[in-house]
Amino acid sequence: MAGEPQTDCLFCKIVSGDIPATIVRESATTVAFRDINPQAPTHVLVIPKVHYPDAASLAAAEPQIAADVLTEAGAVAADEKIDSTGYRTIFNTGSGAGQTVFHAHAHVLGGRGLQWPPG
Ligand code: AMP
Ligand code: ZN
Repeated sequence: MAGEPQTDCLFCKIVSGDIPATIVRESATTVAFRDINPQAPTHVLVIPKVHYPDAASLAAAEPQIAADVLTEAGAVAADEKIDSTGYRTIFNTGSGAGQTVFHAHAHVLGGRGLQWPPG
């Protein structure tokens, strides 16, 4: 069923606790944890607990939870004190854009200068 945990999904296993992660925030619908390969001093991933392959399919099926992911991304930035210096929230969609884990997630990056446009 849509949104159900997928046995072969890394991030579903982080939600269930089967794979450890450095969790920095949790809400009823989301988990936020540090990226294992950080690209900036702060690099946190915010994921919905439900499984959807990307941000657009999450937003189409569960708009409130998509909003929760964005709210939590802002809360992570405040917790990490990067809200005043600036941060970036990214959803890679598709392998051509660098998506490697097909469970929707927001990257929250900050703590260093961020170039625009990104690569
Ligand atoms: P993406 O390339 O947009 O799909 O992002 C996936 C992100 O997940 C990458 O930045 C990886 O470094 C990160 N990642 C992969 N495995 C883990 C893990 N076990 N714990 C935390 N982050 C992970
Ligand atoms: Zn999943």
